[in-house]
Amino acid sequence: MYNITVIPGDGIGPEVTEATLAVLAATGVSFNWQRVEMGHVAWERFGNPVPAETVAAMRKSDACLKGPCATPAGAPFRSPNVTVRLELDLFASVRPCKAYPGVRTPFAGTDLVVIRGITEDKAGGGQFAAGGPEARAIIEALANVAGKRIPAAAALSLATCTEMGTARLARFAFDYARRNGRHRVTVGVKGGGANHMEALFWQVCQEKSKEYPDIECEYEAIDVIFLQLVRRPQQFDVLLVPGNYGGLLSGVCAGLVGGLGMAGGANYGDSLAVFEAAHGSAPKYTGQNKANPMALILSGALMLRYLGECRAAERVEAAVSAQVSEGKCLTYDLAPTPEAIHGTREVAAELARRVRGTKG
Ligand code: NAD
Repeated sequence: MYNITVIPGDGIGPEVTEATLAVLAATGVSFNWQRVEMGHVAWERFGNPVPAETVAAMRKSDACLKGPCATPAGAPFRSPNVTVRLELDLFASVRPCKAYPGVRTPFAGTDLVVIRGITEDKAGGGQFAAGGPEARAIIEALANVAGKRIPAAAALSLATCTEMGTARLARFAFDYARRNGRHRVTVGVKGGGANHMEALFWQVCQEKSKEYPDIECEYEAIDVIFLQLVRRPQQFDVLLVPGNYGGLLSGVCAGLVGGLGMAGGANYGDSLAVFEAAHGSAPKYTGQNKANPMALILSGALMLRYLGECRAAERVEAAVSAQVSEGKCLTYDLAPTPEAIHGTREVAAELARRVRGTKG
């Protein structure tokens, strides 16, 4: 019996979460789900988007399954997603992007994984509002220390890169490649000139790669990676990048393989992992039984692997693959014909039926 903290989250979160629990239950693996709140919904109820009880429950569980949590424009709180990643030291985000046969895409055969750091880069620094006392103090300090002349009214964003943080991310990426039968890690930065942060990132990844002679490690300029992704993404295996580039890359890669409804993911720390889709709370679809649950279901399959339930994970992934390729029971974003369009619940029920029909 696995103890799983479940965070339904905001918007379409509760719908895709319930759909995912139904499919995971169909594997026959025993779970004890503990539902807790996080996000805008928690802020409205408790005045805190990341309640301490939620974090405590997450720490105690075997793994966490998380729906999207909203940070609406102008919200009086920091992104609950970023807060919880920093609080639990979840440093590596993994986004597998696979074009399942049947998905309409000019990039059939794409099967890559984006691994990015999520506790450094902009998440490790901070955002400082234009004209605020902090921004002004930093601008003044930079003028004194480095002779930098930054306009006094500038908004600032501070990014970080450390040797220690990059080394553990690189180790994670090479181990992930090894465990998952992948052979090449492409490190994407812009390391030339005086870009100290990104040069350090590449240098540390290169150093770490020496401990993994079975995995090829190569450098590619980040802009060339974007260019190649929209021409021939099939050439990539694992992409390893700092946080900000990774956020952008994951969006592009989700687009290559059918959209956000197909992009699962997970955030890993040393002793805890949170499984969540790449998409957000899609507020316009809230309560409409319309959202594609497959991204969170595929995240659920990653969770099964993390728990060592690899056969159950394969059954879930095979069910998704079969249902997509059959093209008869899919949400609006994937259905090849109007007759094939079904709701979140119906798609999940059909997936659960398929999973039950395969051997445990
Ligand atoms: P979004 O991913 O919520 O939605 C963008 C569009 O993608 C939607 O309008 C919809 O057309 C489509 N889409 C997304 N998920 C889908 C699904 N499962 N099935 C079908 N179509 C889907 O991005 P957004 O509108 O930029 O963000 C909305 C909210 O989500 C914001 O408050 C943001 O802060 C939050 N967010 C949370 C997370 C997270 O919890 N990890 C990630 C991204 C955004």
